[in-house]
Amino acid sequence: MEKEWKSSTRQNYSIAIDGPAGAGKSSVSKEIAKRLGIVYIDTGAMYRAFGLYYLKNNLSLDSEKIVNMNVPNVIIELKNEDGLNKIYLNHEDVSQEIRSEDASRGASKVSVYPKVREKMVKLQQEISSKTNVIMDGRDIGTVVLPNATLKIYLTASVDERAKRRYKEQTEKGLNVNLEDIKKDIEERDYRDMHRSVSPLKQASDAILLDTSNLTQEEVVDEILNLCRKRDIK
Ligand code: C5P
Repeated sequence: MEKEWKSSTRQNYSIAIDGPAGAGKSSVSKEIAKRLGIVYIDTGAMYRAFGLYYLKNNLSLDSEKIVNMNVPNVIIELKNEDGLNKIYLNHEDVSQEIRSEDASRGASKVSVYPKVREKMVKLQQEISSKTNVIMDGRDIGTVVLPNATLKIYLTASVDERAKRRYKEQTEKGLNVNLEDIKKDIEERDYRDMHRSVSPLKQASDAILLDTSNLTQEEVVDEILNLCRKRDIK
């Protein structure tokens, strides 16, 4: 059964989770959303789906002019189907497809363009104005939800993040190399932190949480403690 994001009767609150690739943002955010019974918005998935439009239509992601011309044609929708978050690109479910390496590269390219970000940020803000959310990404605390009730900057050392990704990939049966993963993470960090629009940075009022020596459960508990302090229960 498809569900629209419903208006909340409680006063709206929002939780912003930012941080570099592989810090554990999405697994932690998903778990917190479940525990608090709120909506989880994966903004990385939105940029992945956006980039996929260009890949599917053989349109260049290197030309800002071509990207901008096509922005009005890209329709991104988030749906919750039987408790699962789904992402639709022009009415097609692309929830699986966005996880490919190509889609990852596409997201990284498309997300540098201001017109693309403008459209996605507007959609993200619209959703959060209607319901309580936990939203993860790179610019949530700084740009999308500057007034978020709680802002967390989740990070971990490059080595630890590479190890986690390596474990994840090998468990999926993929043949990967730890050094390559580490290099990829370092490159993505650099791109995310040095782009001119909405670079990844810790908001001045965000709480820094280094997860290098913590289990996922410990991170979730810590964030839920911080939520309680802000009256989020
Ligand atoms: O989080 P995830 O790895 O799925 O994000 C995919 C890409 O989208 C990243 O390379 C990042 O640069 C971009 N992104 C962004 N702003 C966000 C979320 C993701 O630029 N709020």
